[in-house]
Amino acid sequence: MIRPMVNRDSAFFWEGTQKGELRVQSCNACGVLRHPPGPACPSCGALDRGYVVASGVGTVFSYVVHRHPPVPGKELPIVIALIDLDEGVRMVGEVADVPDQGEGAIEIGMRLRVDYNRVDDELTLPLWRRA
Ligand SMILES: [Zn+2]
Repeated sequence: MIRPMVNRDSAFFWEGTQKGELRVQSCNACGVLRHPPGPACPSCGALDRGYVVASGVGTVFSYVVHRHPPVPGKELPIVIALIDLDEGVRMVGEVADVPDQGEGAIEIGMRLRVDYNRVDDELTLPLWRRA
């Protein structure tokens, strides 16, 4: 399967999913939240960063039903959504348990709650389900 890039900026995120926490990077200088994580605050430029643990609830902003091309380790189709977290950042994620994996079963504005798919000792992926 395809593994996400884990680097110095994103390690805290993946450490969080292993613990069942959805972590969102925060700026220790101005408090703004951001995702995806990066070295500098886009709002004030500060490098001092931390994170908050998000509630794990959000709203579908948009989504695609991925039918092709094949994805290693995945049975298609899968549903990939852009999710607006209640904390105000946008995150991409796979949505589980969509009946027929298709149209009508997921819609913009639908409320989702994060769950976790433990792949192995080093990787746990967020997985979204209908709230
Ligand atoms: Zn800042």
